[in-house]
Amino acid sequence: MTTHQFETAQIHAGAKPDPATGARQTPIYQSTAYVFRDADHAAALFNLQEVGFIYSRLTNPTVAALQDRLAALEGGAGAVCCSSGHAAQIMALFPLMGPGLNIVASNRLYGGTVTQFSQTIRRFGWSAKFVDIDDTDALEAAIDDNTRAVFCESIANPGGHIADLAAIAAVADRAGVPLIVDNTTATPYLCRPIEHGATLVVTSMTKYLTGNGTVTGGAIIDSGRFDWSASDKFPSLSAPEPAYHGLKFHETFGPLAFTFHSIAIGLRDLGMTLNAQAAHYTLMGIETLSLRMDRHVANAVKVAQWLERDPRVAYVTYAGLPSSPSYARMATYCPKGASSLFTFSLKGGYEACVQLIDRVKIFSHVANLGDTRSLIIHSASTTHRQLTEAQQIAAGAAPDVVRLSIGTEDADDLIADLDQALG
Ligand SMILES: *Cc1c(COP(=O)(O)O)cnc(C)c1O
Repeated sequence: MTTHQFETAQIHAGAKPDPATGARQTPIYQSTAYVFRDADHAAALFNLQEVGFIYSRLTNPTVAALQDRLAALEGGAGAVCCSSGHAAQIMALFPLMGPGLNIVASNRLYGGTVTQFSQTIRRFGWSAKFVDIDDTDALEAAIDDNTRAVFCESIANPGGHIADLAAIAAVADRAGVPLIVDNTTATPYLCRPIEHGATLVVTSMTKYLTGNGTVTGGAIIDSGRFDWSASDKFPSLSAPEPAYHGLKFHETFGPLAFTFHSIAIGLRDLGMTLNAQAAHYTLMGIETLSLRMDRHVANAVKVAQWLERDPRVAYVTYAGLPSSPSYARMATYCPKGASSLFTFSLKGGYEACVQLIDRVKIFSHVANLGDTRSLIIHSASTTHRQLTEAQQIAAGAAPDVVRLSIGTEDADDLIADLDQALG
C-alpha cells in the first residue's frame, strides 16, 4: 500500500474486507482476548515467533489496521497506537531512557508537553533540556553523553513555527541519537518528517487525524532506519532485554525492533492502550484527511490574511503568511500548507482577548484543536497556564495572544464572527 498515492492510502492502507464476514468497513473488534488454535500456537505468540492476537492490551485487529495505515501514511516501517498523544510521547521515550538520562527538546512545544518534559518525567529519573531548535549550535552543545533523543514539533503548537527538520536530524545523527518529531499539527498529509530524517514520529490522533473531536488517542510511527546497535546507548533494543527473557529486539526484528518492543514491553507493562472503538473513529476520520486538510489550510489562509489587515490586531503568527519567519520553510517541509492552527495578538492586550473569546458565536471556546469546528482559546490562561511567563512567550503563548484552530466551515462566516466579536 505504501506505493499508492496518499489519497488512496488514507482509505485503503491497513484495511481489507473482514476475512470472517466480508464486511467492507473494518469491524470494531470489541474483544478482550483471542482464542489460540492450540498450545503450540499460544507459545509461539508469546515467544513473538508468530505475529497474532493475544490480549487487547497488546494488540487488537481494529487497532492493528489503524497502525498499518499510519505507518503507510507517515512512510514508516511500523506504528504503535496508544491511549493519547501524551501516552505516545512517554511510550516513545520509554525504550530509550533510564534514570540519569536526558533528552534535548525544542522550547517551542505544546504546553502540556513542556510540563510533561520539565516536571513529570523527572519522577522516572529522566530530564529534558530545552533549546531554541533553530540554533543548531546550541542544540549540538546541549547534547551530552547521557542524551538519548532530540525532540521537536514539525509545526509547533501554538506559534506555528516550522522546524528545519533536515538540519536538526543532521545534528542528531552526528551525536548518534534519534530525532523524535511530534507531527500532530501538520499530519502526514502536510508534512512527512521521516522523509526529512526523523527516526520516530509521535502524534496526537485526538486532533486532525480523527478530525471531529470524538477521540483521545496517540501513535508512534517508527522509520525503521535507526541503527540501535551502533553504540551501547540503547541496550533495551540492542542487548538482551531482561524484561523479555533476554530477547535481542534489534537483532531479531531489524527495522521493526522499536515497534515490537513498544508492543511487547511498552504496552504490556505501561498499559497505555488505544481501545478498538477509538481506533474505529480514527480510521473513519483518516479516510477524509487530505480533503479536510486542504479545506483547513484554505480557510486558515483567508482568516489569517483578514486578521493581519485588521487595525485591532497587533500581529498574526501563521506560517502560511509571507510575514512569518517560517514561511520560507513551508516549501521544503509542508508545501501543501501550514495547517490551520495559529495565534494572533490583540492591541487591546489580555482584556481584549478575554472579551473576544466571550463574544464569538461560531467559534467554540475549548482546549482542543484540529476539529471540523473552528475553535478558540486563550493559551496563557488555559493550556499554557502551568508555564512561567518566559516559557509562555517562548512557546508563542504570551498573555496578549489568542489561539485559533480554523475548521472547515465557510471562511467568510468565520471572518464575520471574529469581526463582530472584536467589537
Ligand atoms: C494535543 C497535543 C498533544 C497531546 O495529545 P493528547 O492526545 O491530548 O494527549 C501533544 N502534542 C501536540 C502538538 C498536541 O497538540
